[in-house]
Amino acid sequence: MRALVFERFGGPLQVREVPSPDPAPGGVVVRVGASGICRSDWHAWQGHDPDVVLPHVPGHELAGTVAAVGPEVRGWAVGDRVTVPFVNACGRCLQCAAGEHQVCAHQTQPGFTHWGSLAEFVALDAADVNLVAVPDALDLATAAALGCRYATAFRAVVQVAAVRAGEWVAVHGCGGVGLSAVQIAAAAGARVVAVDVHPGALDLAREFGAEHVVDGAGDVPAEVADLTGGGAHVSLDALGAAVTCTNSVRSLRPRGRHVQVGLLPPAQGRPEVPMERVIALELQVLGSHGMAAHAYPEMLGLIAAGRLDPRRLVTRELALDDAADALAEVGRTPGIAVVTSF
Ligand SMILES: [Zn+2]
Ligand SMILES: [Zn+2]
Repeated sequence: MRALVFERFGGPLQVREVPSPDPAPGGVVVRVGASGICRSDWHAWQGHDPDVVLPHVPGHELAGTVAAVGPEVRGWAVGDRVTVPFVNACGRCLQCAAGEHQVCAHQTQPGFTHWGSLAEFVALDAADVNLVAVPDALDLATAAALGCRYATAFRAVVQVAAVRAGEWVAVHGCGGVGLSAVQIAAAAGARVVAVDVHPGALDLAREFGAEHVVDGAGDVPAEVADLTGGGAHVSLDALGAAVTCTNSVRSLRPRGRHVQVGLLPPAQGRPEVPMERVIALELQVLGSHGMAAHAYPEMLGLIAAGRLDPRRLVTRELALDDAADALAEVGRTPGIAVVTSF
């Protein structure tokens, strides 16, 4: 099969022929129809993820068609249109038994723990636990965007922060996950303040429902406090950087909830979280890590009803041969780029 491969961290990314995967006994192999290019792929390429073994094929935000099925799989057949959360849970550990698949102790992640979906085929583990059927009305490029950024934003806004109508929500970083969070929070009736250093990203944030936008280069907490009458009820670091994390916590009003969504690899420096503020204002500091497959129906229902529109997040469709350039430029062009031709 053709795949995007790197041989060393930060080294050249090349499309070349590699062996196709076989399904695990409980897994499937999916013919990839669409694979998004995400900041986490960039982190994997840069060597920020300890799970990655070289040579490596990145890609974790995917949708496609089941091409081969392991002998223990019960619920899926060749030809099924599917997507998956980027966390593939084992289905057997204590966290999985409690329904918390997104923090499974034995999780695998395509594009991190094994070769990913910037390739013609990808192997996925524990298919009966992790696969999600893609509704006929949803194209594969949009379905791919659900697997990481949109579902992650949905869980962060709806389930972890439990955003309520009328609350102020600050979103720090308006890349794919940030714009998704803006759209989902606005649809929940929240009033959204979007923060980014790129004017183009802020223009998109307005289109996605942000009531105010703030230049991330300024005094962000002070501006958010001004716009919201004392600080946001909920603030999300959707980028994953020391400055956005700190700004997010500082943007909160008393009793506010910070949700960390963007990855913070220690190699990039640890954020200074003002814990004295966390105590004095009784802030909540929460983490959000993907979303379990069993939680997808609520999100898919809102998409089918037209309340959420992830299709608008997909701003570019590319060929696999263009994926290397897109990965190198991740974060510089607003919206989500999806490889749809392999
Ligand atoms: Zn598990
Ligand atoms: Zn991702």
